[in-house]
Amino acid sequence: MGLIVQKFGGSSVATTEKLKLVAEHIKKELDLKNQVVVVVSAQGKTTDRLIAEEKEITKNPSAREHDVLVSTGEQITIAKLSMTLAEIGIKAISLTGWQIPIVTNSNYSNSRIRYIHNETITEYLRAGNVVIVAGFQGVDENGNITTLGRGGSDTTAVALAASLAADRCDIYTDVDGVFSADPRIIPEPKKMDTVSYDEMLELSSMGAKVLHNRCVEIGKKYDVPIYVKSTFEKNSIGSLITKDNNLEDLVINGVTKDDYISRITVVGLENKIGRTYSLFKLLSEHSINVDVIVQSFGEHITKDLAFTVKMNDLPKTLEVLEQNKEAISAKEILHCENLSKVSIIGVGIANKPGVAADMFEALYENNINMHMVTTSEIKISVLVDANKADLAVKALHEKFFK
Ligand code: ADP
Ligand code: ASP
Ligand code: MG
Repeated sequence: MGLIVQKFGGSSVATTEKLKLVAEHIKKELDLKNQVVVVVSAQGKTTDRLIAEEKEITKNPSAREHDVLVSTGEQITIAKLSMTLAEIGIKAISLTGWQIPIVTNSNYSNSRIRYIHNETITEYLRAGNVVIVAGFQGVDENGNITTLGRGGSDTTAVALAASLAADRCDIYTDVDGVFSADPRIIPEPKKMDTVSYDEMLELSSMGAKVLHNRCVEIGKKYDVPIYVKSTFEKNSIGSLITKDNNLEDLVINGVTKDDYISRITVVGLENKIGRTYSLFKLLSEHSINVDVIVQSFGEHITKDLAFTVKMNDLPKTLEVLEQNKEAISAKEILHCENLSKVSIIGVGIANKPGVAADMFEALYENNINMHMVTTSEIKISVLVDANKADLAVKALHEKFFK
């Protein structure tokens, strides 16, 4: 008898009919004499709707109450799925994050799991239940409800698989695995049968939202085999995320896009040692996450610094910078909204001459302007206008996969 963790995302549990399909996937594992722990997301676009409703009340919600609100979607799904299973004679019990408990730190909206108490789950499993867990949520050490960040139910699932030493974690979603680009943008992307944890981490971190990047980190750390499969396609084989990687001879593994990015330029910083440090210390004191950073050479009396933040963080960042303009010795603060980061991902990209030139050529041929460029061992990313981002993904996919 094995132990399998299955996770079903928002589109897989969107309607009563779809819940019945989910129940069939669960039944299949039970028929194979496996124990099953199921993690579910909120139905369809419930979480988006809750956030929109919150915005009708306030632009500045308390972080604690925000998490209390957005965690409710998953509670509806666990109860409905438990009832759906009962209807076909399967014994099941629903559990919220705090009932288990899944204990996190207190960083609301982006909490990290500290530990999971397995006892409640294992006792219910031993008594012959399917255990249905609300994804995306936890509880901090003071008893406050927390959430793990958008897309965080994947992380709940893999963390549970690691904690319970499950045989594998199956992530059921609306696509048949991990592809070379988002199938919603590229009509026929290349399906990957296996993807290494490191490659998947880059793909997820750069915007391939098919897996929450932190679930891949946990999978890698605790060696959890993760399968990404389709809920809707019969006999879906999906993709396996694992240590092994048989794609080494491929230079580029994927093209990704990350939206809602803004760029801030701090103009005329004094060209003195420590100025860059004080600027970023200030941002970190306000918990502002900075991504791409470009600094001018600093050959003159002043230097300019450009960096990106998520559009959500833009108002707060501008406010902090304007309030501290003199303290950081800046002349002007400029910003630009509605950018996207488009990346090509591949092991050893840095060691393949010509890849960057090919990437820039594809963008040039499609008349796409690059606002910033950044490279690492495993990726090259460019910032482009959001309305050109899909075109950029198509151009790069055409260049590297045709
Ligand atoms: P769920 O609700 O099941 O968690 P998500 O919407 O979070 O599903 O993630 C699945 C989506 O990820 C797909 O519908 C697809 O559009 C998108 N996606 C982006 N990049 C990729 C990729 N490289 N491979 C597969 N899917 C991708
Ligand atoms: N419901 C949450 C979200 O929409 C978590 C998840 O689906 O993974 O982000
Ligand atoms: Mg998701």
